[in-house]
Amino acid sequence: MEKRRGEGMRFVIIGGDAAGMSAASRAKRNRPDMEVLVMEQTMDVSYSACGMPYNIAQPERDMNDLIVRRADVFKAKLGIDLRTGHRAEAVDPGQRVVRCRNIQGEETRFSYDKLLIAAGASPVIPVLPGFDLPGVFSLKSLEDGRRIKRFIMDNDIKEAIIIGMGYIALEMCEALITNKIAVDMVKPRPVFIPWMNEDLSAMVRKEVEDNRVNIHMGHKIQRIEKTGKGLKVICTDMELEGRMVIVAIGVTPNSGLAEEAGLDLGPQRSIAVDKRLLTSDENIYSAGDCADAFHVVTGNRTWIPLALRANRAGWAVADNVTGKRVDIEGVAGTAVFKVFNLQVARTGLSVAEAGEAGFDPVEVMIISRSRAHAHPGNTEIKVQMVGDRKTGLLLGVQMVGREGVAHRINAPAVALHKKMTVEELSGCDLAYAPPFSPVWDPILTAANQLLKLM
Ligand SMILES: Cc1cc2nc3c(=O)[nH]c(=O)nc-3n(C[C@H](O)[C@H](O)[C@H](O)COP(=O)(O)OP(=O)(O)OC[C@H]3O[C@@H](n4cnc5c(N)ncnc54)[C@H](O)[C@@H]3O)c2cc1C
Repeated sequence: MEKRRGEGMRFVIIGGDAAGMSAASRAKRNRPDMEVLVMEQTMDVSYSACGMPYNIAQPERDMNDLIVRRADVFKAKLGIDLRTGHRAEAVDPGQRVVRCRNIQGEETRFSYDKLLIAAGASPVIPVLPGFDLPGVFSLKSLEDGRRIKRFIMDNDIKEAIIIGMGYIALEMCEALITNKIAVDMVKPRPVFIPWMNEDLSAMVRKEVEDNRVNIHMGHKIQRIEKTGKGLKVICTDMELEGRMVIVAIGVTPNSGLAEEAGLDLGPQRSIAVDKRLLTSDENIYSAGDCADAFHVVTGNRTWIPLALRANRAGWAVADNVTGKRVDIEGVAGTAVFKVFNLQVARTGLSVAEAGEAGFDPVEVMIISRSRAHAHPGNTEIKVQMVGDRKTGLLLGVQMVGREGVAHRINAPAVALHKKMTVEELSGCDLAYAPPFSPVWDPILTAANQLLKLM
């Protein structure tokens, strides 16, 4: 067992990225006398994973540009005992000990007073032949990003296959096309973006195809094989050839340590936490992509792994372990991404999700403009809005357009947090000037149209 530094409280954190380092920094700021020890299995801490596709799109950029704060700065400036290359292997809640192994293979045990599991999520890799071949990648860690970038540069890649069509797959598709790499995208499900309204999804699909990407949906993948020049993705009814394969079919929470320690799990085997981020053990917190959250619309537990929640939950854990009582509100599932020249955004529930949650959903889809009608450069914005016929509540919004979409989603996101009705949203005083919106903002037009159907 490694000795403690002093007599005071020791806060141990597993995972050194968004949630873990937010918690570590804030705990030290709140209580400089507290011993804060972070173990991170890789050599990277505190980086923007979200920036990786854009970095890959620019060969001249260094992947290390995405590091927000280096490990030595956390150690020297904040006094955090940061152990990179240390993988936590087991948690013993009875003894309050974490067993960990460093990259030299040495085992160490750390006792804790409070523990945070902030181990994030891992890419889902199908258990099929060939997914471990050289040239097959997933994108999660900074090292994954470096490997992909190096492979593209060293091998003069001209064709790639992406398995999956989620937001990371689409961002990577744009990054590869920017690198002048021809892209085929393939997946087993027959629907392009399953959670999205069909009109909006068709707009995204057209944008991707207009950029010369081949989309193959509804093809069950059997295996990947090596060919003379590269790789072949073999489906039941067709084959695709390329020099590299990117697997982007989603992520799964890293909850194994928690499960083995007997902690309760939530949706999709994420670690169940309350509003203070406390797990079913009174000394163990969890935050970020490995933990669940409450959905502000349904009130139910949900698992939506995104960056803001990870950072915010990390802060809340730090406040709670340093003596404040902080409860955080849930998530609305607000998300945005860019693919080529389109912005895609959502908040709240889709029609299907609303039905499953017991609402009586009504939906409207409107086509509006990004700027005033007569203002040059205005482009189409499609808005889909969902309300509940029984209560009049706003349930969700999706939007696609070339400009003015990404930040426009924040107004309905706030409305969801405040549990507003569609009528209340339609009465809000939203900003107008010709370069930014029509007089009736697209959100207001959607709310006005939806009201007529409710
Ligand atoms: C390509 C890409 C693009 C993204 N784009 C967006 C975006 O645009 N918007 C958005 O909101 N989110 C985005 N995300 C998601 C966002 O990056 C995550 O939500 C966020 O990083 C979660 O932070 P975290 O600290 O919970 O987990 P992670 O960032 O996964 O960090 C967990 C850390 O724990 C370490 N770890 C795991 N197990 C152990 C162990 N046993 N011992 C020691 N260390 C361990 C891991 O090595 C890792 O460093 C993107 C993610 C990717 C991969």
